[in-house]
Amino acid sequence: MSENPLPTPGTTSPPVSPPAGVSASPPADGFAEAARLDAADPLAALRRAFVLDDDTVYLDGNSLGALPAAVPGRLAEVIGREWGELRIRSWTESGWWTAPQRIGDRIARLIGAAPGQVVVGDSTSVNVFKALVGAVRLTATADGPRGGVRDQILVDSGTFPTDGYIAGSAARMTGCTLVPVPAADLPSVAGPRTAAVLVNHVDYRTGELHNLPAVTAAAHAAGAPVVADLCHSAGALPVNLDALRVDFAVGCTYKYLNGGPGSPAYLYIRAEHQDRFDSPLPGWNGHRAPFEMTADYRPAPGAVRGRVGTPDILSMLALEAALEVWDGVDLAEVRAKSLALTDYFLARVAALAPEASAVPVTPAEHARRGSQVSLRCTDAAAVMAELIRRGVVGDFREPDVLRFGFTPLYTSFTDTERAARTLATVLRERPR
Ligand SMILES: *Cc1c(COP(=O)(O)O)cnc(C)c1O
Repeated sequence: MSENPLPTPGTTSPPVSPPAGVSASPPADGFAEAARLDAADPLAALRRAFVLDDDTVYLDGNSLGALPAAVPGRLAEVIGREWGELRIRSWTESGWWTAPQRIGDRIARLIGAAPGQVVVGDSTSVNVFKALVGAVRLTATADGPRGGVRDQILVDSGTFPTDGYIAGSAARMTGCTLVPVPAADLPSVAGPRTAAVLVNHVDYRTGELHNLPAVTAAAHAAGAPVVADLCHSAGALPVNLDALRVDFAVGCTYKYLNGGPGSPAYLYIRAEHQDRFDSPLPGWNGHRAPFEMTADYRPAPGAVRGRVGTPDILSMLALEAALEVWDGVDLAEVRAKSLALTDYFLARVAALAPEASAVPVTPAEHARRGSQVSLRCTDAAAVMAELIRRGVVGDFREPDVLRFGFTPLYTSFTDTERAARTLATVLRERPR
């Protein structure tokens, strides 16, 4: 999956202009500037809703979000009272059975979906499978039996590996071929042979925000449904699934939604498709009357038919508690802060690091940027190890990419200043 050309370290990239109010090369007053921006940040108070330590700059929330402070107490209650004392009664009395759709509705607001279209459960990988096979089955029904007409599943060629692997299997199962296409070309490639389009909303490696409106419009013009993977966008920027008429979406909850390691993923099934959604994993939790225990499968109405088996209640309810931090949060403010943080970081790295030592692969244009900054540099793994040793935690992706995730709910401009300075120091000090 290396079709996405990345700029090479040592080559010059277009200069990144500093955000308004940030000078590209202030003397030693960067921290004063950062403090000024923090004081004006309408989301600053939310940092206190997370368990973080002042010694560490945590820029890996795009891989594992920080722990929301409300979660440990809620989990203690779930274990002590709901499991420990109420035991099986909790499936009804504590609302365990309906948790997947109840928590789905909480996530719905964050991805621009009206209630009743999102269920929580399983991993993103499993939900990619459900959504993609379900999408292909929709076009098969619309066009009559698959007569070699719609026989291609398109996927953006920079896709996160699991999506590509699962899509390959979904293609084999449905008599299709998987066709990797650069994300920017998906609109022009979608055509009469397209059975479904799977697109990563934000590229996990480069941080590029793909044009979901254009992909969706073109797929629909070609008569094909779209499955969007929101792993790196939900919680980092507004996603307008209903308004864009996206057909299916999936995403994980342990990145920008801070649900905890391995917390369950979600599946969005657009209301108009729900009656015809034919899940390839028709488990008993998605049955219309699960406790009748009948031999025949009759799918539940609504998004509930996207459920499979017994939900992972401890992780599910930790996620529910984690989502409380979003109450009243304006996603437009989240997006504005995300762009301000990433602008600030790009500008400060450009100003402080030795020339061409770390080359941005994340687009400078706001319209094409998610909430992470990826920099290409030589010895990236060693550079990241040294950064982590000095208290700046990002991560490394093959072959030579440093990733820094900016979580608008808890990352400050002071964190960002510190990260840029530490990175510049490490790049300056290392043997050349
Ligand atoms: C993180 C991520 C995944 C992870 O899938 P899991 O099933 O949770 O392991 C999948 N797709 C994308 C695009 C991701 O960023």
